[in-house]
Amino acid sequence: MIGAGAGGAAAAYCLAKAGLEVDVYEASGGVGGLARSVGLWGQSVGVGPQHFFSADPRVNELWLEVVGGDFEMVEPVVGSHPARAAAAGSGLGGLLRGVWPRHGRRAAVPEFAHPRHGFGEVYSRMCEFVEKRGGRVHLDTPVAQLVVDDDRVVGVRLNNADVYEHDHVVSSMPPAVLAGRLPAVPAAVAAAGAGLTLGNTVVVYLLTSGQSVFRDTWINVRDPSLRTGRITNFDNWVPAAKRGEPETVVALEYWCSGEHEFWRWEDEQYVALARNELAATGLVDIDEILDGVALRVPKSLPVYRESLRRHLDVLEDHLQGLSGLEVIGQHGPIVRNRQGHGILMGMLAAQNIVEDAGHDLWADPAVHAHPATSRITATGLVY
Ligand SMILES: Cc1cc2nc3c(=O)[nH]c(=O)nc-3n(C[C@H](O)[C@H](O)[C@H](O)COP(=O)(O)OP(=O)(O)OC[C@H]3O[C@@H](n4cnc5c(N)ncnc54)[C@H](O)[C@@H]3O)c2cc1C
Repeated sequence: MIGAGAGGAAAAYCLAKAGLEVDVYEASGGVGGLARSVGLWGQSVGVGPQHFFSADPRVNELWLEVVGGDFEMVEPVVGSHPARAAAAGSGLGGLLRGVWPRHGRRAAVPEFAHPRHGFGEVYSRMCEFVEKRGGRVHLDTPVAQLVVDDDRVVGVRLNNADVYEHDHVVSSMPPAVLAGRLPAVPAAVAAAGAGLTLGNTVVVYLLTSGQSVFRDTWINVRDPSLRTGRITNFDNWVPAAKRGEPETVVALEYWCSGEHEFWRWEDEQYVALARNELAATGLVDIDEILDGVALRVPKSLPVYRESLRRHLDVLEDHLQGLSGLEVIGQHGPIVRNRQGHGILMGMLAAQNIVEDAGHDLWADPAVHAHPATSRITATGLVY
């Protein structure tokens, strides 16, 4: 399994549960990928306002199997700034069009289940299970290249050139990255991979004095005078994640392309900008902002260029021609991924391996929709 985000952790969990021996290779130092939990100032916060919501009974059942009763329901209050925001034309819109989130008006977001210690907990538990079943989770271990023998993926090569053979490989790397990790790809495939642009996120966390500085769970920002696109107030998520700390963590998100000079700013510049912008909203007094930390999240957003589908089609054709490989994950077969989609794709990939289920993971997600719906409530799953 390449990657231990939502998709990778779910696939590895299901494979281990079916009795397979699983190796998970994760490039970063922790599990959870984009949905990881971040420990800051004694509290557990997410990469932006991550909320998990799925109607799919398979996904919800698996989620509850892993989380057990260790979750709380959050009834989000989603605000906009300014309160009567114009629908378009923010500074963010100028940088990346069509990236998620795109809606700035007061949104009716249904209540959702949140693990007490953050979403990263779900994926950590999945990986712990893999290890308990005799598998291995290799952190700080990026896969440098897939090893391909006669159109079959037979293993992975690491940065130190060590090769590990496997019967099946599941990749949750963005296909743009995966294309660059295949040996001897035709020029058209390499060009398609290079043509898939991914946007970046910078999340600036600010520590503010006092509790519940404002009542919103998050606020979509559509103010052309501000660069931030969204402000999250982690005081209004689950109390357990605060771990008894008295202060509030507020996060401001910024989106940009890798070529934009904004991506090359120093941490202090991001923090100074976020301080000023939070104060400019009038939500928090600048004197109440005690500290700040910037987190760069590269390759975190698909960019909806007109060429996207064309490039993905070229990659799909090539990757479908390789046996022994399942491709899941962010910006892959599912372009606009969410945790729930990631988990489902992981489950389906595992079924392809264990039961030879033949799910076409490149198909439109609607193909995989479950006929029944469900939702997680405080007392369990309701069908
Ligand atoms: C700011 C933000 C807010 C979001 N909010 C929400 C939300 O509210 N609700 C929701 O459902 N979703 C949300 N999402 C999306 C959600 O986080 C993702 O869809 C989901 O976490 C993706 O999971 P994944 O496993 O497909 O990919 P990822 O999380 O990207 O996992 C891929 C993993 O692969 C690893 N990797 C990459 N290359 C290699 C390599 N060569 N070798 C080894 N490992 C490698 C990466 O380090 C990573 O851990 C948000 C995303 C962002 C960025």
